[in-house]
This record gives sequence, C-alpha cells and structure tokens, in this order.
Amino acid sequence: MHGGRGGGGGGKGEMMDRPRMINDALDMHLEKSSPSTSRGRDGKAKEKERISGPSTSSGKSQPENNSDEESETDSEESDVSGSDGDDTSWISWFCNLRGNEFFCEVDDEYIQDDFNLCGLSSQVPCFDYALDLILDVDSSHSDMFTEEHNELVESAAEMLYGLIHVRYILTSKGMAAMLEKYKNYDFGRCPRVYCCGQPCLPVGQSDIPRSSTVKIYCPKCEDTYYPRSKYQGNVDGAYYGTTFPHLFLMTYGHLKPQKPTTSYVPRVFGFKIHKS
Ligand SMILES: [Zn+2]
Repeated sequence: MHGGRGGGGGGKGEMMDRPRMINDALDMHLEKSSPSTSRGRDGKAKEKERISGPSTSSGKSQPENNSDEESETDSEESDVSGSDGDDTSWISWFCNLRGNEFFCEVDDEYIQDDFNLCGLSSQVPCFDYALDLILDVDSSHSDMFTEEHNELVESAAEMLYGLIHVRYILTSKGMAAMLEKYKNYDFGRCPRVYCCGQPCLPVGQSDIPRSSTVKIYCPKCEDTYYPRSKYQGNVDGAYYGTTFPHLFLMTYGHLKPQKPTTSYVPRVFGFKIHKS
C-alpha cells in the first residue's frame, strides 16, 4: 500500500509537507508503487492464493488443503486459482494482506448504503471504480483501461476502504468486529514491561489522511507506540482515527484495565538516584 514510504517516523515529515491534495496523494502512490498497488487484477488472484493459505481467520475454508485434494483427485481442469481465488472477496483479500492486520472486514451492507459514504466521493479519485472494486462488482470495461488507470483505481480503493473503515469501526457492528480482533491480540501488546503484555488498540494521531501512520494505544499506561511490524507501521493512521480506542473502551468499559501500580525505578549499584 504505502510500502514505498520510509519507515514510520522517516516518511512522516514528507507526508506533512505535501499539500493534502488527492492528486498528489495518488502521484505518490504511482511514483512509489508497492507490491500491493503494482499488481494488476490478475495479480490479485495470485496474491489471494499466497495469502489465503496461512490465514487464521475463523470460518474460512482451508484453500490449501482443498487444492491439494483437488489436484490429486481432479485432473487438468482443477486450476488451483479456480477453487479459492474467486470466492474470496476483495475485502477479505485486502484485510489479509501483510501489514493490514489491524483492519476489520467492513460489512457489504454498510458500504452499499450511500449515506455512510457521504462526502467520500470528493476525497477519493475514481470513486465509482474504486467502490466497484471493493464490492467485487465486475466492471466489463476493465480491459479498456490502461495498466496505469487500473493501478490508480486500486490505490483509490485502498484509500476509500480506509476512509470507510474509520467510520465503520465507530458503529456498534464495527466495534464488535474490532472487539474480536482485540481479544485475538491482533493489534499487538504494549511493549512496556510493567504493562505485562497488555493488548493494545490501533489509533491515529490525526483524522486527516496522509498526516501520520497508525500507532497502537495501550489502555493500561495510556500511551501510544509504533506497531511492531514495519508493514503495519506504513498504514495511514486516518484509517483508524483519533477517536476509536477511546470510544471502544467507553463502550466496553469492563475491558478497561487498572492503571499500572508499579513503574520502573532507575538504580545505580542498587541505590535510587538522588533527585538533583
Ligand atoms: Zn502500556
């Protein structure tokens, strides 16, 4: 997605200096196209195969096993991509990409309701194409377009999904989906020793796209940290927003942990250091 950017802090200044115009954002996508944006639509099926194997999400079939069985029983017609490639939606494919582990799957119904997309058509270029891609609406014109146009639509779809996602996770359904991920430790744990592995929540430092990358928020020490994976660290923080973890902990109050009782005390040869 934004793989071409420098790691977390490095790319930040550059992002902030750039005028926040969509065209620039997309120029940036094109200049620094990354694995996820540089694949064509055919590449999607290939990626799907790669990704769906180790997928841990529940309720999904086990495509690798299936394809193994099929390749033994069926003969030539069982092209591997046929079995699992087509029944994976763009959304689940996208959410299973490396670095996108923090995203939950937004309900199709939510996306199909125009009310929920209010204002996004002016923020995202190629809006209609991007929306079709997200919803797996087959565009019969896709062959007519250049590779460049298709790449543009794909990066627009990623941005559109992110901007829908930040709204969705504030709804009760979206929050429930994030709760499942939280229980699964999908957002990682606090690196602070005295937080004892407290699970974290994703948070943005800004609600404006291209301002900063996503961080994780620890409900125990109430501080923010860089995600452990550099792939996660390249995702736009505006796709999670500044509100989410706090509204989440207000909604699920029983999940809010006690503040840490111990804190680290620096010592020299066992003695506390004098305050001076
Ligand atoms: Zn903590």
